[in-house]
Amino acid sequence: MSRTYNFSAGPSMLPEAVLQRAREEILDWRGTGMSVMEMSHRGKDFIAIAEKAEADVRELLAIPANYKVLFLQGGASGQFAAVPMNLLRGKPSACYVNTGIWSGKAISEAKLYGEVKLAASAKESGFTTIPARASWTLDPQAAYLHYTSNETINGVEFQVIPDAGGLPLVCDMSSNILSRPLDVSQFGVIYAGAQKNMGPAGITLVIVREDLMGQTLAGTPGIFDYQKQAENGSMLNTPPTYNWYLLGLVLEWLQEQGGVAAMEVRNVRKAEKLYAAIDASPFYSNPVDPACRSRMNVPFRLANAELEKPFAAAAKAAGLVTLEGHRSVGGMRASIYNAMPEAGVDALIGFMAEFERTHG
Ligand code: PMP
Repeated sequence: MSRTYNFSAGPSMLPEAVLQRAREEILDWRGTGMSVMEMSHRGKDFIAIAEKAEADVRELLAIPANYKVLFLQGGASGQFAAVPMNLLRGKPSACYVNTGIWSGKAISEAKLYGEVKLAASAKESGFTTIPARASWTLDPQAAYLHYTSNETINGVEFQVIPDAGGLPLVCDMSSNILSRPLDVSQFGVIYAGAQKNMGPAGITLVIVREDLMGQTLAGTPGIFDYQKQAENGSMLNTPPTYNWYLLGLVLEWLQEQGGVAAMEVRNVRKAEKLYAAIDASPFYSNPVDPACRSRMNVPFRLANAELEKPFAAAAKAAGLVTLEGHRSVGGMRASIYNAMPEAGVDALIGFMAEFERTHG
């Protein structure tokens, strides 16, 4: 069976070379006579795998020494709660920017632990733009400022890191981490579920500045306590070992590709040509302000909505799968993360032109 181009928003495509390597190593990891899945997380072989993944992510993102790198469970949604639990530090409120469905979910969860002050909201635009930084209202007493660097459903992405006005900056980077270079020193906390740009679902990367740890809210579960997890090498309990290993393989693949700077060049090229194809046709449209269109998730509609189902079905028959938009918004969406080859985007563009020719 041949592999498809899978445009799923997550879990999403993994680099084929990574899957091949995992296949080669699945029964016998480097002469140990066992699969990584069967190893003790406390044994030297797995510890080496875990440490290599941390070293590689530190190198890829040039993470400064005063940041801890954690590999946790509970997904990015777990971090929606863990962030206020760890970072409120006795302060009454936190500022949040609402740019779409995922920041909305982070806000709802944070409200369970403290007051949320809305610094800015793009709701009125239907989440098709990002309010200008000059219009944001920040409370200098707030514990931190949270934003979502890429809204996976709405297809809206910050092109620059916003000025946090002196507050610790916290970012949900689930859907664009490792897609471009990053200045980690501007952040208090960065978190991301792995299942888009880093690996399979079930492991969550958290990068946290050391001075923000150790003041967790009373009642915080140990597994969500950054300080406790850091002290225990993210092994306060049994970690998702196989996911950690696969994440490590993806990081090695990224390095072979030339790192995040090389990924950015490729990602810009892929996104630009897809948006250009959409904009050039009256048959397709994307509602997002061009200044904040996502390089990772490209939502689009067909002028005739009745053609969307036939479009998805014909695309699937052509080996271009999971192009349906999120169930909450409908339409189509092409997720084109790091692992989507440029040839996949070219195939989609070619398919779109052909579908328009035969149905337009
Ligand atoms: N944040 C963003 C930006 C996402 O895209 C997602 C998942 N699609 C989440 C958070 C939630 O992630 P998880 O399912 O790992 O909890």
